[in-house]
Amino acid sequence: MTTKNHTVNSQNQFQCLGVKFLTANRRATNVLMGMFAAVPLTLALPVEALQVQVTPASPRLGDTLSVVINLDNPESNSNPTVAIGAKTYPAFAIAPNQYRALIPTTPLEKAGIRKLKVAGDGQEQNVSVQIRDRTFPVQRINLPPGKAGLEATVLELNRVAAFKALQTPQKYWNGLFLKPNKGRLSTTYGVRRYYNGKFANDYYHRGIDYAGAAGSPVTAPAAGRVAMVGRVSQGFRVHGNVVGIDHGQGVTSIFMHLSRINVKEGDLVKAGQLIGAVGSTGASTGPHLHWGLYVNGQSIDPIPWFAKVVN
Ligand SMILES: [Zn+2]
Repeated sequence: MTTKNHTVNSQNQFQCLGVKFLTANRRATNVLMGMFAAVPLTLALPVEALQVQVTPASPRLGDTLSVVINLDNPESNSNPTVAIGAKTYPAFAIAPNQYRALIPTTPLEKAGIRKLKVAGDGQEQNVSVQIRDRTFPVQRINLPPGKAGLEATVLELNRVAAFKALQTPQKYWNGLFLKPNKGRLSTTYGVRRYYNGKFANDYYHRGIDYAGAAGSPVTAPAAGRVAMVGRVSQGFRVHGNVVGIDHGQGVTSIFMHLSRINVKEGDLVKAGQLIGAVGSTGASTGPHLHWGLYVNGQSIDPIPWFAKVVN
């Protein structure tokens, strides 16, 4: 009898907290219920002060999690945050009383449950999300002894790292992302590698390649601010001639191996605007465009951004 009552209460309170739990997954739901049972204090929080929605409904490795947070309290001045383990991601305003944090997932991670701790307006809410596994293609590269390929210069490493770390509060992009080149997609996101038979633990293809002809247009996939322009002549030995676009709110795009650059740092570009041309500068075996899309510093799969609007 006691057990029965307890079960009923848990269910009622689970609904009252207002978690729109989109990962309709028995295992994840059980974990969430378990957490509630283990931390009864959570149940004493004011109802519906903090509402959380996570999309996509069934994410897999490489996907970007969008965590939309609605706050009831309009007097709040500080944005909510989303923490996973030791990492904390900022949420940015996307509408009145509505905020959104973007969480990257990558091929370097393991599939399974992520526990998101959402904090805002003095409230805290735990949400569990199940990340599905995904098989990424594998390449086997054989390099002659002593030939490790080109090494990046300190200058390009520092400039690129600073660019990818941008978390500009302004949101420049709107709607679906567009393909940045009309060429065939030649290498997909997330490809893993063996070098001379040894698996490269830290390597995955951090973007997608288009086999566009040398000189063919490279266009901005979404609006943004040109935050980085680098050239071989300045020391961009591996990236080659490169453009970095800041789309805002932790989303950045990098375009590598360009033969020509049509923009300068500080330019505001629109979706579809010409930014450069396909080339083979830097560490490249032939003309192609490498486009990397980054979310809070991590390379995620850009393809879903073509099909579904990330608000
Ligand atoms: Zn590439």
